[in-house]
Amino acid sequence: MIEQIYGANRKMTSLISTSFTLIPNQKYRRSNRRPSQAQLCSSVETESQHLSTLGYFKELPLEIFYMILEYLSVKDISMLSMVSKTISNHLINYISTPSGSRRFLLQDFHSLHLPDKRQEPSLPHHYRSLGLLFKRCTLLLPTKERLRYIHKILSEISCFKLGGCSAPMQCLGLPCYGVFLQTLTAGWDELECHRVYNFLCELTSLPRKVQAVVSGKPGSARKLELRVRLFCRSVLLDHWANRSDSAFWLTRLLKPWPIVNQARLLYIIFGPVSSLDGQVVWPKMTEGTADETSLKGLADAIKLLYDIEAKEWTADDVISLLDELSVVPHEWLLENNARLLILSGNSICFTFMASKAVNGRAIELARLVVFLALVCEKDLYCMDWAVQMMQKVCKVFSSAVERNSFLQNVENAFARVIMDMLQSVMSGERDEEDSSFLNLFHLVNAQANFHKEILYLTMSCPTA
Ligand SMILES: [Zn+2]
Repeated sequence: MIEQIYGANRKMTSLISTSFTLIPNQKYRRSNRRPSQAQLCSSVETESQHLSTLGYFKELPLEIFYMILEYLSVKDISMLSMVSKTISNHLINYISTPSGSRRFLLQDFHSLHLPDKRQEPSLPHHYRSLGLLFKRCTLLLPTKERLRYIHKILSEISCFKLGGCSAPMQCLGLPCYGVFLQTLTAGWDELECHRVYNFLCELTSLPRKVQAVVSGKPGSARKLELRVRLFCRSVLLDHWANRSDSAFWLTRLLKPWPIVNQARLLYIIFGPVSSLDGQVVWPKMTEGTADETSLKGLADAIKLLYDIEAKEWTADDVISLLDELSVVPHEWLLENNARLLILSGNSICFTFMASKAVNGRAIELARLVVFLALVCEKDLYCMDWAVQMMQKVCKVFSSAVERNSFLQNVENAFARVIMDMLQSVMSGERDEEDSSFLNLFHLVNAQANFHKEILYLTMSCPTA
């Protein structure tokens, strides 16, 4: 069998011919399953071309060549692979040897001690170099072939698989895989990145798993939710330097689904998680106030999609998604909504409110203004921001009657929310932190500060 593959190269000198005797049968069969390699070896190039591109290496037996490789860093080997196609083929073969895979496919993902900086690079650093090596070695193959070959080699690393690790929270596997993929695909055009995504979907059955977590009851498959989150974040989303890349990959994940599922998936990937086991905390937005840390991931994702870089999203798409998010898994407390809007930035906040104004949802909008003021007060933002936002939203209403009715609604909402909070304080259901009283305290101050800003605006301006 060996003879069949390498028959054409029979006249080659030591480096090629000794390889017949050195590769163990079993290993050989492995490489035989790779049509790409066989094609490479028996490619149209003539023997003399092969020989000339080997340079002085043609004098060396293969085992000496491999021994030399052991003295080179992964980065240096990746440089070497660019010398010629023949060299790069030899390197591909070397990677698949037992000593090659021992050296390259490091799997110490669970020992969280920091590596000794002088001795060995960190694991993610190693996999970045390895990504470069694979990128350079497989440069001449078509994308699909390339991915198939690379993943055949990576298939022995179980911590790279979506459900392959038994302790995913303590594992560096997925981040390393993410760094590897990012290096491999850096600079590829969109069409090729689509191919990568489709390939990964096929390899991991990601769409089927996403389907399960977005259509089932929230929290009914906690472990799968966690795995989907970790895979999406660590492998597909977290390592990009450019926002446009992050937007591209997030779009791939979200776009196939209807908007209700998009919102659910967004919450699974970016929503708050438990600090104990890393699992998604579903009642966080509905049962109590969520702080900035719990909301920041979601806000950043919304901003990313609203960004000019995310070509496949209109402002309307993002606002609808934001609207849908506020009922995942049930209707959020309005304070959490307001905090998410503030974290999402002026433009998104205004567009969201303007869309409510245009759709005649003035009462809902008025309540939102009250909670924006409350969050400004609690989180120490300038209150004139909230006033200016209300002023801008006022201009969206087309007639003076509508505008005045909206302002009336804002005042009513202040009174109403204060009365509601007062009632909850009076009812005496005090928790340990006395949070209902504290909330009332903040709201009364918020109202005072909000109106102070309005007085400044109207009284200190001579033309008003
Ligand atoms: Zn692991």
